[in-house]
Amino acid sequence: MIIEQFVQTPFQQNTRIVACENTRKAICIDPGEASPEVVEFVKTKGLELSAICLTHGHLDHIGGTRFIKDNFPDAEILLHQAEEPLYYSLKQQPLAMGIPPHQLVAMGFDYDDPPEVTRHVEHGEIVEIGDLKFEIRHCPGHTLGHIVLVEENERAVFTGDCLFSGSVGRSDLPGGSHEQLISSIVENVLSLDDDFTAYCGHGPETTIGRERMTNPFLI
Ligand SMILES: [Zn+2]
Ligand SMILES: [Zn+2]
Repeated sequence: MIIEQFVQTPFQQNTRIVACENTRKAICIDPGEASPEVVEFVKTKGLELSAICLTHGHLDHIGGTRFIKDNFPDAEILLHQAEEPLYYSLKQQPLAMGIPPHQLVAMGFDYDDPPEVTRHVEHGEIVEIGDLKFEIRHCPGHTLGHIVLVEENERAVFTGDCLFSGSVGRSDLPGGSHEQLISSIVENVLSLDDDFTAYCGHGPETTIGRERMTNPFLI
């Protein structure tokens, strides 16, 4: 498995390209901003981008969806159905966060409408990217339709804003619930074996074993 990380937006969000070494098929998880660097990486590595998957609909995770889709028109756009209202409100999100309209361009938050979602992904579904098999797990609590992606053979989980190294996601935004977030993590993330690497939406990667032992929100 090839994993390349790009830290994007003023929120330091981790956009990733994950690819199957055998077939060169690739998925983009959470494109944060319109990034020529990401497109360049896919092209120079000879990858075929077959899907864009969004762990959830916050602007720092979806802001680059249109740009990636424009560059790779055949890529599917995968999102949980409960996340659609947030996804399609991309243009309004910076204003709702209190960012003044005249600063939107300077901060990179001057968005066009995001492209249509092409497929809803549901809990338990498997998304195949070449030989890679990503199991979708619905983990509400940060937002209503947040998902994580589990690649069992590669011992990897992509946790979005659900679980971070030493921390968990915010639950004070619309649709959030701390109680629900913790139960999502316990049921769907901590149920993985200790050796799984967690690739988080912000900050460094970690392991399930380390979080189980040391994450103050989970012990
Ligand atoms: Zn978020
Ligand atoms: Zn985020």
